[in-house]
Amino acid sequence: MTVSVVIPLYNEEENVEILNERLTETLKSMGSDYEIVYVDDGSTDRTMPLLEELQKKDDNIVVLCLRRNFGQTAAFAAGFDFARGDVVVTMDGDLQNDPKDIPRLLELIGEYDLVSGWRKKRQDTFITRRMPSIIANWLISKVTGVGLHDYGCSLKAYRREVVKNLKLYGEMHRFIPAVASWYGVKIAEIETTHHPRLRGKSKYGISRTIRVLLDLVTVKFLQSFSTKPIQFFGPLGVFFGLAGLGVSVYLTAAKIFQGIDIGGRPLLLLGALLIIVGIQFIGMGLLGEMIVRVYHESQKKPIYTMKKILGPGR
Ligand code: UDP
Ligand code: MG
Repeated sequence: MTVSVVIPLYNEEENVEILNERLTETLKSMGSDYEIVYVDDGSTDRTMPLLEELQKKDDNIVVLCLRRNFGQTAAFAAGFDFARGDVVVTMDGDLQNDPKDIPRLLELIGEYDLVSGWRKKRQDTFITRRMPSIIANWLISKVTGVGLHDYGCSLKAYRREVVKNLKLYGEMHRFIPAVASWYGVKIAEIETTHHPRLRGKSKYGISRTIRVLLDLVTVKFLQSFSTKPIQFFGPLGVFFGLAGLGVSVYLTAAKIFQGIDIGGRPLLLLGALLIIVGIQFIGMGLLGEMIVRVYHESQKKPIYTMKKILGPGR
């Protein structure tokens, strides 16, 4: 089993060297082949020169240097694309995760496809970090149906196939377990150590919560409707359309049979509106169907995932 450790770094000059030292020590002690993939996410401090120095001295180190700061998700994606190990481990570059937990994650990887860390004793401030995260984890678990205590923990281990087939957007890296689980991936969660950030500054504040929630909406939408948009918009369209039709028929009957003047009635407006909205929804569903087909076919993206194929020549 070969291991790739992917670490995104954005202005972590004070951490790089100690991180590399501790991580290398752990990985060497495990005895399997490994590589460390450092992704410099457009740092403006000395992170990149320091990484270059480390790489010169150690062939187990790969350094990917992004042209500008693309964000943690993009940095992970770059690392995944270039990682060569059978197992890919991700962690933060600020030493808040502990490299010593890696062997415990890997022990479970035989049995599971994804092992996620859980920062049970999380060393961050309560109001701005831990509390929003408790709520977010609860919400994400409920909405996606994949129950984890700590979606935000970067320390995770994946079997290669899991990350090689992923397309990540926005701030999506925290949703990998949810997305992967819909593909049929087996997931475990274990408690991991968490340290306070001793050097350098955190790159995030409370505003991240809002971005995470918006991504959750996208993820949920993609999960439920990406292969069948008409099933989502269609019923809504039919419901509104029929309601509008009912109202209109009632008004028409009142006009014809009772001679009531319906021109100024608010109900007329409602009826017309409902019919238009109904047609719009169905139209949206159909447009969605076209977009989904383009999406899947342009990427040759199958609508299933396969575990094994048996048979001659396979
Ligand atoms: N990071 C990154 N690009 C960014 C922001 C952060 O690569 O745009 C890296 C950062 O260097 C660190 C990890 O992502 O290695 C986690 O960031 P941070 O410690 O600031 O997040 P927190 O632990 O406060 O949630
Ligand atoms: Mg941190």
